Amino acid sequence: MDDFKRMYRNVNNCIKCGTKLILQNDREQKERPHCPNCGWIYYKNPVPASACVLINESNELLLVKRKFSPHADEWALPSGYIELWQTPEECAVDELFEETGIIGEVDSFIDFYTGYSPIYIRTLSFGFLMKGVGGELQAGDDAQEAVFFKQNELPPICFWSHQHFLKKINYL
Ligand SMILES: [Zn+2]
Repeated sequence: MDDFKRMYRNVNNCIKCGTKLILQNDREQKERPHCPNCGWIYYKNPVPASACVLINESNELLLVKRKFSPHADEWALPSGYIELWQTPEECAVDELFEETGIIGEVDSFIDFYTGYSPIYIRTLSFGFLMKGVGGELQAGDDAQEAVFFKQNELPPICFWSHQHFLKKINYL
């Protein structure tokens, strides 16, 4: 907990006006970096992401081979960070299409998972069970491959959050 609190201190300047930030208590007596010029307060929160579990009629799971760090060349669920204009469900549908070419719909919410991220410190991931309604399987965006794997032939899955969602539905 204290480690996370200390990470507030590694920001230097206001992203709105560039003034050097000062540490100051907010109304709830929580210490946060404030801008003495424009009043902007830096809140560091877990970064939200959505992940897609898509299983076909043959009980095979759709995975993507990641193109970029972290975990480049490793296998994961289709997933991505939620944009400001997306709901978690919309993010899941968009990421599924962008990374695999599959047009999908959210079937159900599986669970959420709070985990460590080497880039953002903490992420908050939402797992969705998806159903495919169209499209054509083709890797795209930040995926170099998109493949359906048999349940007993799964490669190692690189994110704890993704493993958690698969365990939650008794697939892993
Ligand atoms: Zn400012």
